[in-house]
Amino acid sequence: MQVIMAENAGFCYGVDRAVKKVYKELDNHPLYTYGPIIHNRQVVEALEKKGVTIIHSIEELDQHEPGTIIIRSHGIPKQDYEEIEKRGYTIVDATCPYVKRIHQIVAKCKGNGNILIIGNKDHPEVRGILGWCDNQAMVVQTTEEIDRLHLPKDEPLGIVVQTTFNRMNYKKLIEKIQKKGYDVDIYDTICSATEEIQTEAYKLAQQVDKMIVIGGKHSSNTQKLFNICQSQCENTYHIETLDDLELNVFNEDDIIGITAGASTPKNIIEEVYINVRNTARI
Ligand code: SF4
Repeated sequence: MQVIMAENAGFCYGVDRAVKKVYKELDNHPLYTYGPIIHNRQVVEALEKKGVTIIHSIEELDQHEPGTIIIRSHGIPKQDYEEIEKRGYTIVDATCPYVKRIHQIVAKCKGNGNILIIGNKDHPEVRGILGWCDNQAMVVQTTEEIDRLHLPKDEPLGIVVQTTFNRMNYKKLIEKIQKKGYDVDIYDTICSATEEIQTEAYKLAQQVDKMIVIGGKHSSNTQKLFNICQSQCENTYHIETLDDLELNVFNEDDIIGITAGASTPKNIIEEVYINVRNTARI
């Protein structure tokens, strides 16, 4: 059995930065995160044990004693910053700089034509972006939605894309939009970290018999990684931790690939890697 670990598996720059910011603030009480700091249950539970409380909404802020609150890497709408500050909380902003850049772009485009966000309208990152252009943007993620677009051709159309959007799908959507003859201003805001993880996972999945994707069940980037790997390797397993993995599915002559979503901590990845490798030696 051969086990190949993807080089780019695990925490991306923005997630690493956000989690480090929380750990740096642990001496401050009370300490909150606005939403789970990342989509990884194990990391969130470890922080809760250290006294970090998750606040899920603006309304919930009123139920707590004001303290330090950390904004997660996905970012939040502009109005939420104002609401948080109004209630006396101190903000530590861990919004990923790549997401911040999108906020700045849509804020600049606002009032100058239309704005189109390519992404999932229910994802917190997209909801945050909408809040930087007064919710005046349209959100699309399928070619059918592009077909249904009817926008004035004499007004500029600023286009941004969710950082974790799949590049191949993005290209298809952009081609469709361009064919409609709008006056487009395209900002390719897909994050290179996501792309690197996805491209490497795509190639690795082609070379192996079985593929393991580690990451939170609610993590959109892990889900995408799983879909990419499964498209190339039908024996792809999505697990959160080693506990979810049936080690007896692996055969002696299998080549196994391992990758992990951008919100998966190193210790979980290493534990899976070590155990799969040890299985190989039995
Ligand atoms: S995936 Fe990219 S944009 Fe998202 S947090 Fe990580 S580095 Fe930032």
